[in-house]
Amino acid sequence: MCLEIRKTCKCGKNDAQFHMRDNVLSQKVIAELYCPECSNQAEFNPDTMLGDNDWIIEYDMDLARFMTVSKLMLEPEAVRPGYLFDSGYACWLEMYPGEKQDILEERTEIMGLQKTDPTRYLQEISSWNIARIERLKADGWRKAMAA
Ligand SMILES: [Zn+2]
Repeated sequence: MCLEIRKTCKCGKNDAQFHMRDNVLSQKVIAELYCPECSNQAEFNPDTMLGDNDWIIEYDMDLARFMTVSKLMLEPEAVRPGYLFDSGYACWLEMYPGEKQDILEERTEIMGLQKTDPTRYLQEISSWNIARIERLKADGWRKAMAA
C-alpha cells in the first residue's frame, strides 16, 4: 500500500501530493515545502533540500537516514535528498505538482473528439501524450527526466 500525502507550502498558497513508496518513510520526513512563489525565501541547502524547477522540498535528513538505515539497511552516506526523491520514497505523486489539473484542462479539447471522431481521438490523445512528456523533459522536471 502506498500512502498519498498532501503538504501545503511555506506561504500557504499551493500544495503538492507526495508519493511515499512502500511507506518506508513517514510524512514527517518532508520537513518543508516551498512553491514557486515562496521558494525564494528558502536558503537552498543541497544537504537537506531538493529543487525541482521552482519548487523546493526540504527533508528531515536525520529522520530519513534513521528510517532508511533501519528498514533498508542502507549506508547513511548514501541517503541524500536526490536519493529520497529518485527512489520514490518521498517524491511528487504526479510528474510535477499540479499536473493532474493541467491534464484535465489540456484534454478537454481532445475529449470532444471522442464522440464525433473516435479514430482521430485516439491519434490525438496518443500524440498529445508523447508531446506532453517531451515537454516535461524539456522543462527539466526531475521525474520526467528519469522516466
Ligand atoms: Zn508557497
